Amino acid sequence: MKEIAYYSTRGFGPVTASEAILTGLAPDGGLFVPDRIPALPLSLGELSRLSYPDLAYEILHAFLTDFSEEELRACCAGAYDEKFDTPEIAPLAKVGDVYYLELYHGKTIAFKDMALSILPHLMTAAAARQQDRKEIVILTATSGDTGKAALAGFANVPGTRIAVFYPHGGVSPIQERQMVTQEGENTCVIAVRGNFDDAQTGVKQLLGDEALREELDRRGMRFSSANSINIGRLVPQIAYYVHAYARLLREGEIREGDPVNFTVPTGNFGNILAAYYAKKMGLPVGKLICASNRNRVLFDFFSTGTYDRRRPFYLTTSPSMDILISSNLERLVYELGGEDAGKDRDLMARLTKDGAYELTPDMKEKLTDFAGGYADEEQTAAEIARVWNTYQYLLDPHTAVASSVYQDYRKETGDDTPTVVVSTASPFKFTGTVMGAVCPGVTAADDFALADRMAQETGWPVPAAVNEVRSAPVRHRTVCDISAMKENVLAFLK
Ligand SMILES: *Cc1c(COP(=O)(O)O)cnc(C)c1O
Repeated sequence: MKEIAYYSTRGFGPVTASEAILTGLAPDGGLFVPDRIPALPLSLGELSRLSYPDLAYEILHAFLTDFSEEELRACCAGAYDEKFDTPEIAPLAKVGDVYYLELYHGKTIAFKDMALSILPHLMTAAAARQQDRKEIVILTATSGDTGKAALAGFANVPGTRIAVFYPHGGVSPIQERQMVTQEGENTCVIAVRGNFDDAQTGVKQLLGDEALREELDRRGMRFSSANSINIGRLVPQIAYYVHAYARLLREGEIREGDPVNFTVPTGNFGNILAAYYAKKMGLPVGKLICASNRNRVLFDFFSTGTYDRRRPFYLTTSPSMDILISSNLERLVYELGGEDAGKDRDLMARLTKDGAYELTPDMKEKLTDFAGGYADEEQTAAEIARVWNTYQYLLDPHTAVASSVYQDYRKETGDDTPTVVVSTASPFKFTGTVMGAVCPGVTAADDFALADRMAQETGWPVPAAVNEVRSAPVRHRTVCDISAMKENVLAFLK
């Protein structure tokens, strides 16, 4: 089998898969993409008989060609194990005639666990392969979900350390408790006085700080990135789309070769891009329905071919989709442009300079794999209530955005292809919004008490992940100013 090489969307490369994973963001500011998309390695029938870790192995092996079979099998077995609260790993629920792919059964009850439970394993295997003995240091700023999922993934992984910064007073009480109770000698959690953008800018400055990089080098360490631009997060996400199709096939819901649509609640465009890659591997996918909340920059992009971030930013009840710059979209744009790094650089420069860019007519024509839609706050709450009242099935607000968008899409198009709505968080992670929709008027002293009320009212059990942090001891208490982030990182790396 010919090796797959990785190139930056802005031209840098080629590098191997393991180099791309260790590096994270390419040095020219672009995102690493494979030079071709491999075909599915087995027939759909064969794939439908595999366990989740075995199926994930097949997908990883097709893309990450410089890793050995033993390495990749060990990564998959180490990631998709009892950390998940069901042996299915990613169960598919049939609710009416819609299928919900539940990606929230991992450690932090959000879909980021699907990729962040395997990324540390891939990174340490990549470092061994590159004969890089440096300790890997992950710095992450988080608005809530990514930080905890990254901490849970990297905790106690030999050869790694992780520091997470979150805005002081800017995350939900459950999210804060999840982070400050994090175990693991190699973890560090710091609240910064500022908002998420301040924390994010602070982290970017640290990553670009030449003196700090040299200091790390002296100490035998190197920075890497765990955010969703790392190709090591994207590839594992392809597996659950193949798994969803395989499940439908095994259950006799579809016949081999029948198309299936996916509706994906979208922010940074990583999750839905993995679905697109699955389609390019040969998975019979009909439409990819990209669902946005009130921050509908992607809906406008798919309807007009113009990406325009010059607009107000809204805080919504689906915070992980409150994004105006969808970084992974650059990978799609690069492909639409015929893998032309010059064209990509030009469009991305316009985005930086003018805040907008327009696709060329031939690029626009290639958008037909996608449909866009959005749901506002009222529609999101109404969808949570509708699905609960009709089917006694709970949706978190992100999944509800997608579910609402799918209902609209179906009415408008009449497309009745079997459709999977991707469910990205447990409803217990957003108890306030969910209870407001299903049991209006019920209140409680705090989010933990509200989770108990939700369990009483709905009969859905409180997930172990919530109960674990409720009484766990606080291990991280540092609060600092943006200007003190560097000295705190240095102290942690001692
Ligand atoms: C991150 C996240 C999303 C958005 O996923 P992208 O890959 O950034 O498009 C949607 N829902 C939840 C709950 C998330 O945590």
